[in-house]
Amino acid sequence: MEKPNIKGLYEKILSDKKLKTIAISGLCCLVLLIALVSVYSRTVLEVSVNDRVIGYVQNHEVLSEITEELKSRFEAKLGADVEFVQVIKATPVRAVGHKLAVEDEIIKDLEAALTCKLKAVAINIDGKEIALVKDKGTAENVLQQVKQHYIDQTPGELIKLEVAENVKLVEKYVYPNQIISPEDAKNLILKGSVETRTYEVVEGDSLWAISRRENIPIEELIKANPQLKSEHELALGDIINLTEVKPLLTVSMLKKVTYEESIPYKTETVRDDSMWTWEQKVKQAGEKGTKEVAAEVLFENGIKVSENVIGEKVLKEPVTQIVAKGTKAEVAFRGSGRFIWPVVGQITSPYGKRGREFHTGIDIAQSRGTPVYASNSGTVTFAGWRGGYGNLVIVNHGGGIETYYAHNSKINVSVGQQVEKGQQIAAVGSTGRSSGNHLHFEIRINGSPVNPLNYLNK
Ligand SMILES: [Zn+2]
Repeated sequence: MEKPNIKGLYEKILSDKKLKTIAISGLCCLVLLIALVSVYSRTVLEVSVNDRVIGYVQNHEVLSEITEELKSRFEAKLGADVEFVQVIKATPVRAVGHKLAVEDEIIKDLEAALTCKLKAVAINIDGKEIALVKDKGTAENVLQQVKQHYIDQTPGELIKLEVAENVKLVEKYVYPNQIISPEDAKNLILKGSVETRTYEVVEGDSLWAISRRENIPIEELIKANPQLKSEHELALGDIINLTEVKPLLTVSMLKKVTYEESIPYKTETVRDDSMWTWEQKVKQAGEKGTKEVAAEVLFENGIKVSENVIGEKVLKEPVTQIVAKGTKAEVAFRGSGRFIWPVVGQITSPYGKRGREFHTGIDIAQSRGTPVYASNSGTVTFAGWRGGYGNLVIVNHGGGIETYYAHNSKINVSVGQQVEKGQQIAAVGSTGRSSGNHLHFEIRINGSPVNPLNYLNK
């Protein structure tokens, strides 16, 4: 019964070895399975922009490092905070079959695929976005420059400044090309548009000439240049607007302005009996005075709206003009006998109707060369040839009274000369429409001939 025992043992051993092998190989299988499962279940991140795959990175940590680096590169280049327009999408995928990207390469590829918006500041006026500038400091500076523009444009000392509109500065991300320069932003607010056509005034220019040359109606030119009230205010080198300016802000300023103003002089008339009534003479020339006016002036966008005078100081008193007016008059009244006979002689033709004609004076016959005397004192207003009158002298005596001396052979006086009653002014002749030597003598009152006999000495 021994032998079967050995065989049994052997068999037992043999079956133990088999068992071991099975166990080992089973273990191996398990390890392999675990390894396989773990490899297949490992994931990486697929990075894409607009559904275009850029590359693969290990995890979110690596991706956020990459995005940070990218942002700082853009910010360094553009000089402002940036925001990507596109979304960087990260999708977990099985790692198997995907090669992880080299960091530098994926950054470069992302940079090409992305566009940036910059952090900027919008200047909003009454809720409307007017301009985008780089930052808050720039926006504030632009608004300050607009105010300064109006302050500099007007005289005086600033008391108060107000902006009618509601201005707000709002931070936002925008495309780089939406941002304008501070200079453009300032012009935009001052003029309503970035570009305005202007014109420099040259010698001899007038608004009318510019209107014609530039083919712009004069009313529009005036509207575009509210600082000009008339063409006389155009000065050489002035820059005027050819397009209408519509400021986007209303800047009201109260300023204390002092200026000099002239004071007109008064004119006083004094009577002077040494002068004829038709004479007047400035005895003392008037001179304008000067005063310093202090006023509170309200300007709106550089244009004076109203003024409140707060004080006046006379710097120089005006000098009254004194005019002397003559009172000496030789007034002829009917029968007063104040007019003397210019020539003594026979009246050959009286005043009045003569056939179909009317004789406007009297004819006094005398020989050629006989002196003709001024019938009264006065001023010579005519001395020379006048048609049918021949050589004529007219003397004005004031009060609308004139005497005519006609047909003279010679004239002794000239226009503007003062003559005394009885002074020789001409010599008897027969010039003009005349039939023989005589003096034709007329007295006219306010231009109408009267009968001299009513005024001459009896
Ligand atoms: Zn006559």
